[in-house]
Amino acid sequence: MEAILNFQSLLTCLMFIFMIMITSSTMANNITLPPNLQDKIHTDADAIKAASTDYGHIITQKPAAALFPSSMEDLKTLIGFSFNSSVPYTVAAKGRAHSVHGEAMATNGVVVEMTSLSKNGSNMIVIGGDKASGFYADVGGEQLWIDVLNATLQKGLTPVSWTDYLYLTVGGTLSNAGISGQTHLKGPQINNVYELDVVTGKGELVTCSKQANSELFYAVLGGLGQFGIITRARIVLEPAKTKVKWTRMLYTDFDTFSKDQEKLMAVNERGSGEIPNYLEGQLLMDPNSLDFYPPEDRPRIASLIKQYGILYVLETASYYDDRTKHSVVDKKLHQLFKSLSYLPNIYSKNVTYVEFLDRVHADELVLRKKGLWDVPHPWLNLFIPKSGVQAFNNGVFKNILLKQNFTTSIVLVYPMNRNKWDDNMSAVIPDEEIFYTAGFLHSSGFNNWQVFDNKNKEILEFCDKAGIKVKKYLGFHDSKEEWINHFGSKWKTFQDRKNQFDPKKILSPGQKIFN
Ligand code: FAD
Repeated sequence: MEAILNFQSLLTCLMFIFMIMITSSTMANNITLPPNLQDKIHTDADAIKAASTDYGHIITQKPAAALFPSSMEDLKTLIGFSFNSSVPYTVAAKGRAHSVHGEAMATNGVVVEMTSLSKNGSNMIVIGGDKASGFYADVGGEQLWIDVLNATLQKGLTPVSWTDYLYLTVGGTLSNAGISGQTHLKGPQINNVYELDVVTGKGELVTCSKQANSELFYAVLGGLGQFGIITRARIVLEPAKTKVKWTRMLYTDFDTFSKDQEKLMAVNERGSGEIPNYLEGQLLMDPNSLDFYPPEDRPRIASLIKQYGILYVLETASYYDDRTKHSVVDKKLHQLFKSLSYLPNIYSKNVTYVEFLDRVHADELVLRKKGLWDVPHPWLNLFIPKSGVQAFNNGVFKNILLKQNFTTSIVLVYPMNRNKWDDNMSAVIPDEEIFYTAGFLHSSGFNNWQVFDNKNKEILEFCDKAGIKVKKYLGFHDSKEEWINHFGSKWKTFQDRKNQFDPKKILSPGQKIFN
């Protein structure tokens, strides 16, 4: 009798636990999610739609749910629960989804809306350090670079390395590299980080730097979100200048243009005063895109475009303030530019530091008004070894873009030094000391992005046939073999680190490296 009673109470107890599990664990599209995150997990149509798309508007992948975290504990819980489950679900951190090929998506997994952390105010931007040991900002991985800029400028300080556009998250750009015209001088953004807090694929929070847990530190920087979610980055700061002399010079010949870019880069290599602070370049093929130039010069520039097809624009920016004065910068630039071979006229503007760094946002506002911002972006970004850049100009800029009349896209091209990158980090660059980045920043209609995508494929095929060993930046690859080829000699380390920090392959499935 007693045994029957015991059995009955055990059964009741088990049923009770089962009922609690049913009612308190969160089910979403057949995956079981942590019960204590119930009120932060959204499965409604709006949340799913927002997590299914990105700036590319090329790929759509539906997650089972989106998490709106309010603390890093939520991230630990989400990932830890998956790690300990017999059927783990995938997790993708999403910054602003400014990726273009679904990199921040997770089919039937969970997308973490990182910017929800800053709404909670728990992860503010905190400035520390001193003149002797260097200043830094502790910044949540979800923070936008524009907010980091505004917060640090209040203390007269600034990060040293940027992207062209600042409405990107710190975690998002550090997962790639973060490049712009400052890279030739300061290295990419990943080279300007002292320390990180990371929630790994096991749900553990680890603080890492070059000194402590260095393997994770190196893995995460440029690591495409594969090893952990960055919840805090300690960013290098320097005293900020307030103004910028922004110049552009035109060339009709790629060889002369690129030699001059490299000359300016070499000046800075010799350590002579960090002028120019920024060095980029772009193609000018569209006579309707001459806003930067004074109206009286536009007909002349337009007729040069007609004559030569492509003009090459060398762009620099040099920082100054009331103490350094722009006349001093002018003198230095005059000296530097004397040895260059640009067409007559230096086009220049004096703007504030913020206006310069935030320049793409001004374009964004214009494009948004015209309904041209939220359109497909079949982008291709490449790193090209210096030995192949001349052939690239002939084969791609001239024979593919110009000949086939693809002349309205923004195309960036500028050099960098390998010695400003840290090879221990996951980011992949060409083997040569000097390499160029070429960014084909196409915008298209919703029904014709494939035309641009095919052009990108043609560019890659050309490089392959011509033996130009390009590396994709912000790249997506169609198969694991292509990823292995992309990482080359770094693949084994990349794979070993994945097994160490995310052995169940939970993180960043949208990159399609391991999933
Ligand atoms: P997302 O696209 O949301 O995420 C990118 C990847 O990082 C995903 O795999 C995601 O899972 C992962 N991730 C996101 N947050 C974290 C985190 N906290 N921890 C770990 N992993 C995370 N890039 C440059 O280098 N230089 C440029 O000049 C530049 N200009 C740009 C201009 C525009 C207009 C746009 C749209 C993009 C530009 N980019 C540039 C590309 C940009 O660096 C990438 O889009 C990058 O992904 C950052 O965007 P995001 O913050 O929205 O990250």
